[in-house]
Amino acid sequence: MGKHEKWRKIAKKVRRKRIRQSLAKIRHEKEEQEQRKREQSPTYIQLLQKYEEEEAFQEEEEARLRAEAEQRWLQIEEEAQKQWRELQKKLEEAREDRIRQNLLIKLEWEKEQKRLKDLKEAKEREREENEKRQQQLREEIENFIAHGGDTPEHLKVYIEMNPNKPVCPFFQKTSACRFKDSCSRNHIKPGVSRILLIPNFYSHYSLEQTESEYDDSSLEFENHETYSHFKDFFFDVLPEMERYGRIRQFKVCCNRESHLRGNVYVEYSTTREAVRSFHVFNGRWYGGKQLSVEFCNIESWKSAICGLHSRKRCPKGSSCNFLHVFPNPHNLFYLADRDEHRTPSRSISRAETEERNWRWSESPERFPGNHTSSHKKREEKHTRNGSNSKRRTQDRSHNRRSSKSRKRSRSRRESRNDRKDSKYR
Ligand SMILES: [Zn+2]
Ligand SMILES: [Zn+2]
Repeated sequence: MGKHEKWRKIAKKVRRKRIRQSLAKIRHEKEEQEQRKREQSPTYIQLLQKYEEEEAFQEEEEARLRAEAEQRWLQIEEEAQKQWRELQKKLEEAREDRIRQNLLIKLEWEKEQKRLKDLKEAKEREREENEKRQQQLREEIENFIAHGGDTPEHLKVYIEMNPNKPVCPFFQKTSACRFKDSCSRNHIKPGVSRILLIPNFYSHYSLEQTESEYDDSSLEFENHETYSHFKDFFFDVLPEMERYGRIRQFKVCCNRESHLRGNVYVEYSTTREAVRSFHVFNGRWYGGKQLSVEFCNIESWKSAICGLHSRKRCPKGSSCNFLHVFPNPHNLFYLADRDEHRTPSRSISRAETEERNWRWSESPERFPGNHTSSHKKREEKHTRNGSNSKRRTQDRSHNRRSSKSRKRSRSRRESRNDRKDSKYR
């Protein structure tokens, strides 16, 4: 290609560019013109305005919704805060409450502990004082028993079961009343006295019978089995009780009513002797039975003992409230029955004391099988005394044969008598 052609080509290109540019310019101007025209048209302005209004409304609305949402969130937040604060407050209150409660419980516990401690101390003090007092009383009593002198003051008391009520005539006379402590009248019991009462001490099956089965007036004492049994008891008990003092009266009841049945009354010369005897016999065992000894006052034996019974003429029979007593062997203490208190001269024959069957023991278990053996002995006695007098003589001869054992028991008895002699005679 030649220079000219090149030039033409460039010239054409430039010309086309110029045309294009001018066309673009014209188009642009036209567009601007149209734009201006459009912008000035009232519809366009109106439209724009509308757009603007809508936009403004939208923004406003969004802002409002945002504000509302924010408000709601704030409210929820505030509510939650409030609830949290309340919860915290409640928790705090509960905690304080618990602390207070614990404190109260602790205080209460401490108070209770203190109370218990005080109580324990008071009890201990009381126990000690009691023990001291008891010890003092024991010493006083032992001193009184050992050395005599005046009766200790605290023993001189009288216990009244129903003060301000009239005195029970039966109790006053016999120291026994069928109504016992529930009697509506007054029973006056002495702290100590010269007379001991051992209720229901003597027992024999015939005393357990009712009147119809066993008529009171039919008791032919001297020949009766019951009397023989009683005599064994008498020679067993009286010497033992005599070891502790001079006896003025010894009475055993054969009444069948429970408040008098088998009651044993023992009168000593002095209160001191009675107290000594009380200390020995109260709680002791005889024939498997534990004795409960009481002090009593019998002002007159004459009025305590039913006089008609000895003449077998008591019309009251077993409902009699006075003492129906076994006649003592050899009329011992008969003066006391007439209220003539003189110590009688004793005369228990050797044969009778030898037949004595000791049933005393310090406890029911002292000797193995004691209970059953004493029971057996009693049973044997019933048959022996009652129907089988032959066997009795056989037994006696057997006893005579076994002289070794007799010697032993005699030496035992003699040493006992020696002791008694040196002490009381
Ligand atoms: Zn009474
Ligand atoms: Zn009578």
